[in-house]
Amino acid sequence: MTADCVFCRIINGDATARVVLETDTVLAFHDINPQTPTHVLVIPKEHFPAVGDMDPTTAGEVLAAAHQVAKAEGVDESGYRLVFNTGPDTGQTVFHVHCHVLGGRELHWPPG
Ligand code: 5GP
Repeated sequence: MTADCVFCRIINGDATARVVLETDTVLAFHDINPQTPTHVLVIPKEHFPAVGDMDPTTAGEVLAAAHQVAKAEGVDESGYRLVFNTGPDTGQTVFHVHCHVLGGRELHWPPG
């Protein structure tokens, strides 16, 4: 728990979010500013700043949950994209690691 982390506040119930999935170790909720029809964030409940800080077990739990979210949102067959913005070149704004689950429309490649 980091006091000034918005995602830690969501985990603790001090801030609200539209939760899609919760396990003992992972929480998934709708992004407040969706970029695609499906835009869900999957986070570990433990605070890690970025993807490289997670231990492999936690990283696996986040990825497994992201696929469950895609199924729950009905985009697992049409397709979805997982994104971990990491560092300044990507515009990462929240330094509690999060996996964006993006889908619900055709996504362009390469990304902008
Ligand atoms: P980043 O650019 O760090 O990869 O993405 C952070 C994401 O968190 C953004 O898509 C932003 O809209 C989302 N976000 C930031 N604050 C909140 C919040 O308080 N609630 C929710 N649900 N999403 C948030």
